[in-house]
Amino acid sequence: MTTGIFYSHIFKTSPGPVVGPKFINFPEVLGDVLKLPNVKLFEHEPVSEDLLLKFHTEQMIESLKNRPYGKNAFYSVGACVTASKKIISGELKNGLLFNSASGHHAGPKQAWGGTYLNCVAPAVYSLRETFNVNNLSLLDTDCHHGDGDREMFKHDSSLLHVCFCDSSYADETNVCVGVGWRSNNNDYLDLVRKEFIPRAKKFMPAMIFHFLGHDTCEGDYGDIGLTQDFFIELVKEVKECAEDVCQGRYLIITGGGSRRDVAEYIFPRIANVLAS
Ligand SMILES: [Zn+2]
Ligand SMILES: [Zn+2]
Repeated sequence: MTTGIFYSHIFKTSPGPVVGPKFINFPEVLGDVLKLPNVKLFEHEPVSEDLLLKFHTEQMIESLKNRPYGKNAFYSVGACVTASKKIISGELKNGLLFNSASGHHAGPKQAWGGTYLNCVAPAVYSLRETFNVNNLSLLDTDCHHGDGDREMFKHDSSLLHVCFCDSSYADETNVCVGVGWRSNNNDYLDLVRKEFIPRAKKFMPAMIFHFLGHDTCEGDYGDIGLTQDFFIELVKEVKECAEDVCQGRYLIITGGGSRRDVAEYIFPRIANVLAS
């Protein structure tokens, strides 16, 4: 089964807001993983405006067109839709999506924090339209609360949203796990084992989306004390969970974090874990 890597060459010349030019040396720095027979590299394509208009105001979409990173967002959302369809259809087993300017702070009417279009909501909609799937899950391990995603999904009882952030909350399908502003690799992984994996096993989603920020890493702008190797261990845990609940269907979407060296350390290794 194939692992898809989704990258846009736009990122070489157009830095992302907040996260900066951290993907400038990709996809080359992925190195040997790209030569594996079960790894395939895809170039992003833009999302359709008709689809975006189901989730955002026309004003949000229009104003983004004039911003230097607007294209990053339109292409990243397009890649998220394509990647998730390829995973559900069985063309791919799992995927790693390099994302810029889209993500978890983009709600229906407002967006901030470097993410100006929602990426998972259009993908979830497209999956349900095209395939016979209902339950899906979104895990968010960026440092910050996924307020835009929560706005998009809070009334969607078929979407399990588990967000690791600085506050605690739980109803049936909307969960925030408070990790605090200081943690460590083991404590955080224990919380993932305790708060995400049992819920996913009960909910049985058809696929797991994972918004993975490395802003939580030591020295990055949301530093809570995690080391670079934490992110590889995290992906191993979630991948194993996906294999238990949804035949391994797992899509990682890159989130916050501006340290280029961290991105260049973790993502080749994460790609290797997905392909192994
Ligand atoms: Zn963040
Ligand atoms: Zn949260």
